[in-house]
Amino acid sequence: MMIYDWSREQAKKNGDQIAISLSGEHVSYGTLESQSNQLAGRLLVNGLETSSRVCLFMEKTPKTIIAMLGISKAGGVYVPLDIHSPAERLIKIIKSASPSLLLLDHISIHLFQSLIQVDSSLGDIPWVWWSENEMEYADDSKPGFMFSDIKKEADYPHQVRNAEYSPAHILFTSGSTGDPKGVVITHKNICSFIEWAVPFFDMKPGENTSCHSPLHFDLSTFDIYGAFAAGCHLHLVPAEISANPKKMVAFIRDNELHQWFSVPSALSYLARFNAIPKEGFPTLKRLLWCGEVFPLPALQYWMKKLPGVKFTNLYGPTEATIASSYYDVSEIPELDTEIPIGKACGGEKLLILNENLHQVKYGEVGNLYIAGSGLSPGYWLDQAKTNAAFIWYTNEEGDWVRIYKTGDIASLSGDGFVFFHGRSDYQIKSRGYRIELGEIEVALGQNDLLREYAVVPVKKNGFEGTSIGCAFVGLNLSNGELAPQLKQKLSHKVPAYMMPQYWKEYDKLPRNGNGKIDRKKLSENFEL
Ligand code: AMP
Repeated sequence: MMIYDWSREQAKKNGDQIAISLSGEHVSYGTLESQSNQLAGRLLVNGLETSSRVCLFMEKTPKTIIAMLGISKAGGVYVPLDIHSPAERLIKIIKSASPSLLLLDHISIHLFQSLIQVDSSLGDIPWVWWSENEMEYADDSKPGFMFSDIKKEADYPHQVRNAEYSPAHILFTSGSTGDPKGVVITHKNICSFIEWAVPFFDMKPGENTSCHSPLHFDLSTFDIYGAFAAGCHLHLVPAEISANPKKMVAFIRDNELHQWFSVPSALSYLARFNAIPKEGFPTLKRLLWCGEVFPLPALQYWMKKLPGVKFTNLYGPTEATIASSYYDVSEIPELDTEIPIGKACGGEKLLILNENLHQVKYGEVGNLYIAGSGLSPGYWLDQAKTNAAFIWYTNEEGDWVRIYKTGDIASLSGDGFVFFHGRSDYQIKSRGYRIELGEIEVALGQNDLLREYAVVPVKKNGFEGTSIGCAFVGLNLSNGELAPQLKQKLSHKVPAYMMPQYWKEYDKLPRNGNGKIDRKKLSENFEL
């Protein structure tokens, strides 16, 4: 099974059905299949070698998704890029991927030209004009071929050139050392998750589903291939509406979405503006989030407003493909409860181990490791990092199992649910005490004063060592009164040495390219 098999099946069954829409542009399953076959044909004629990388230097559009399928069908590996990343970071990623080809469209070409100004060697990479718009290009360089050229190619399924364990895409995530790390994901990794998720969520043909995350973030992998496997109509959420609650609401309502999947921040944002209409979203059946903790006040708000909807917390790192565990939140949670990350998704296993790689007892915290079908073969061209994060372990039955160290701290309850307790690398020493910043966050979340919050390490020069900073967004405008109230409440929950020394109120917390809270930035803001 390869990642392009689902859309191929849908094209055979119902080629006229719309597969993808974006702002009034619609692509049917038939077109998706034909154009990706034609692109594959053209890539093969051009000599694309099996497993060579093709960078998608484009926004999230139906054409970009056609390209993903076409590249896969030709045996290539696609690398979706965040074209709005800072130039230096993008250049590092492109050079690391060392693509044999790059796809550009009318939106991205100027951005790419500006990268060439910074590093002229990028101008040597062969490229394709992947747009129906007339080509505009300032210098002499010419594309290898244009979108219009593929129409001349025959439309038939090409002989499969990859195997299940061949890489399908490489997703670059931030690396602690400053260089982005490329996580290699195989066809098999993706197929295993999708084959569990589609029946689990009972996704049905013709349903309207969302694609909110950018293509370089793996939540979109589920959106795309989950929709194709089930025969759904995928609605790409334009990036610009994410910061506009009215438009987000209109998007969910007018497209009659049945499923929404995103990082929690998109959902907290609507809660913050009390944006869900009185009548709710009548068609919505499922609301899924992944990537970080959903703040309880915002989750409560959503669950109260949408009583008939199934709410599911998904958990997992990119290295284990999309998500590794799930928890259905069946009742509106109290503010002093914790939502588990739940139980392993099909084909996956969660292990909570101590420093000696022995399983911890129920209720005890340990390091969370993941085993199973989602595990990436490793980091792109980085054996040292791969060996450090993906290790071999002998389980209780004496079998060797490959496991991934998530860097998360977790515990297992007696009834088999895993609870997330923050990152092990958020552990700090302050005034000699060992502190998990995640623990302070959990305590902070247990009140109804906050929309969003993050507790971060603060390294001021001088004798202080590492201090603690709390960045927060109030439910309502506070005129500076909130910090004293929060301190008062928190002082009842954590010992004095765990109280943040620095407090800063925001209108909204800064986010990184994946939509997660940008903790590094918050720390830096405190350190100014
Ligand atoms: P990424 O590779 O960007 O998806 O980040 C993976 C990390 O995000 C995990 O190791 C966790 O620290 C965090 N994470 C993912 N899902 C959740 C969740 N549902 N709840 C809490 N943290 C999460």
